[in-house]
Amino acid sequence: MRYDLAKIAGKLAIPITKMGSGGGTSFPGALFFKVGGEEALKELSGELDIGSIIVTGTNGKTTTTTLLIELFSNDLEIRRSYESNTINAITTGLLKGEGDLGIFEYGIRDIKHGIPDTVQRLIDPIGVVYTTISREHTQVAGVKNPFNKYLEAKTLLTKNMKRGVIITNADDPRTANIGLNKDSDVKINYFGIADESVHDIFEDVTVECPQCGAQLEYSHRFMNHRGIYKCPDCGLERPPLNVYLKKIEFNDKNWILDIEGNLFNYTVNDNVSFNVRLTVPQFGFHNVYNTLASITAYATFTPYPERIESTVSKVFNNLDMSFIPPGRFEVVDVNGKKVGLGQGDNGDAAKINGMFMNQYIDGPLEFIYTTPDVDEEEIFEDHLEAIRALHPAHLIVVPGRESIGIAEHYYNQIKEEFNSTFYPLSYEKMEERIDKLCELAENSKYDYVIMTGCGEEQAMWENIKQKLIR
Ligand SMILES: [Zn+2]
Repeated sequence: MRYDLAKIAGKLAIPITKMGSGGGTSFPGALFFKVGGEEALKELSGELDIGSIIVTGTNGKTTTTTLLIELFSNDLEIRRSYESNTINAITTGLLKGEGDLGIFEYGIRDIKHGIPDTVQRLIDPIGVVYTTISREHTQVAGVKNPFNKYLEAKTLLTKNMKRGVIITNADDPRTANIGLNKDSDVKINYFGIADESVHDIFEDVTVECPQCGAQLEYSHRFMNHRGIYKCPDCGLERPPLNVYLKKIEFNDKNWILDIEGNLFNYTVNDNVSFNVRLTVPQFGFHNVYNTLASITAYATFTPYPERIESTVSKVFNNLDMSFIPPGRFEVVDVNGKKVGLGQGDNGDAAKINGMFMNQYIDGPLEFIYTTPDVDEEEIFEDHLEAIRALHPAHLIVVPGRESIGIAEHYYNQIKEEFNSTFYPLSYEKMEERIDKLCELAENSKYDYVIMTGCGEEQAMWENIKQKLIR
């Protein structure tokens, strides 16, 4: 009775909310939850004959979810929510759609704001996809959020899972370790890169073993902390790959990816194998990981494993750059210059952007850097590694968040190291900040410009993109 009431209330609320691109508004879900409570949400999740897949991680969530939805759309009707990170958004997605499979993006910043164990209990997912885990905002709602707590929150999403499959990045020791600790309870499908011609451009950072805390030893680095690693103390090492990039070929106009897979399919309860050769845009190595994550999740749950090769080929051979979510990094032509621009909120994202831009750089580069806020020194330090790796001929520093004072403080720490300029643009006058950032990119005297760092993806970056390139 209470469940029916909640469902009616939630469904009635759907048309009166403005749907964003991801359909991820949270109001109907919040109303449903308020009327029906936890039990009602459990019942709603249980309506799906197949079940739900949740995508989480620090970077790559939205892109992976988007690609996964694209793949499954060839097979069946799905309920979905992406670009929104709350349980209420997932609930809205469950209420809105029809179909027996749910695909939901879920972001977890810390335990207090994310309730990952509650989400697991109520949604009872058959699949959880981990893209990658790295240091992001160390401050959430004014409280310091240490990395080990953040990692613990991510782990809680699968800790009590008793059925289904965890799809996880084997090249990332943190996400790999989540799988290794759960392989007696559920099946684990690992994805990663097997082509060692892929390597990054950064100084090697030290990475702690997520199992015992010792310093990991890497024999190869693909991208930042993703690589081939082993712990000298506890023996943790990269698990064998179920789905992997066997070979990548870089061409002027596109990339060719050879991907092979041999993994457990949950729906047919059997192992399946496939191999595909895909021609994709030059979309950056981070999107190779997003491609692998989405293909692995798809191959794990599709009820039509015989069609994996044809469906994957169809989706990826027809991909253009429009699959990139709003505000995210892309490289575009502006007045004959190559300008890379978009969000790089955490150190890993800024490095990913730097690596992406690096494919295009063939001359002196100007770096327009938007800083983090107060109490985010760790992010600043990570950003600095990304800036250093690109050796900019000129550096422009602009506040990316609210505090101008802290932006100037960060600038003072690096102004001697680079030929640099500081622009104290205010947060309150966001329009002016956006206009100035556009002007700086448009009028840059350099042929290669990268503009990245902190700033809200839609409010700032997508606005800049709209003004500059659309
Ligand atoms: Zn260890």
